[in-house]
Amino acid sequence: MKLTLILGPMKSGKSFELINYFAPLKYTKQNFALFHPASNVRDEQINSRNGVYIESVKIQTIKNLIDGDYSIIGIDEIHMFPESEAEFIEQLLKKGTEIIISGLDMDHAGRLFPIVQKLMEMGPAEIKMKKAVCELCQDHNATYTQVLYNNEPIAKNLPPSIPDDGTFTYKPVCRKCFIK
Ligand SMILES: [Zn+2]
Repeated sequence: MKLTLILGPMKSGKSFELINYFAPLKYTKQNFALFHPASNVRDEQINSRNGVYIESVKIQTIKNLIDGDYSIIGIDEIHMFPESEAEFIEQLLKKGTEIIISGLDMDHAGRLFPIVQKLMEMGPAEIKMKKAVCELCQDHNATYTQVLYNNEPIAKNLPPSIPDDGTFTYKPVCRKCFIK
């Protein structure tokens, strides 16, 4: 069924947007659920930076959701899932499930994450592109996420999907400030 993507850099309000979408559903008869990747070691729920949160279940694979009886599914931090998970999203859509997905669109080198590219090829009904405040020049125009190690930008020699365990820090930056 309908696919909605909420994409953008770090600190652009993606999780807040996802939470806003789902918060009213608890007053409806919709059978909905939210999920986020088990590789996110920090969070037991979906947190937005302004303090709002919503219950979410950690999953290793999206495949396990196919047997569920959900009418609406939300998935946060999609970029942390491997490209191979995209086919399960396609199966859910074909089954009639509405899916709202949020995450980073581009990696540390400004390339689309392979799974995000796959999702864009599924003909989403809507793609909400979020922007953040650039942490270097303070323009409200940041679309990239600079990955830093010891405060130095890392653009090369990293796998497309990198751990989110505190080893690296992340800064939203604008096109002018982004170092590839
Ligand atoms: Zn900037």
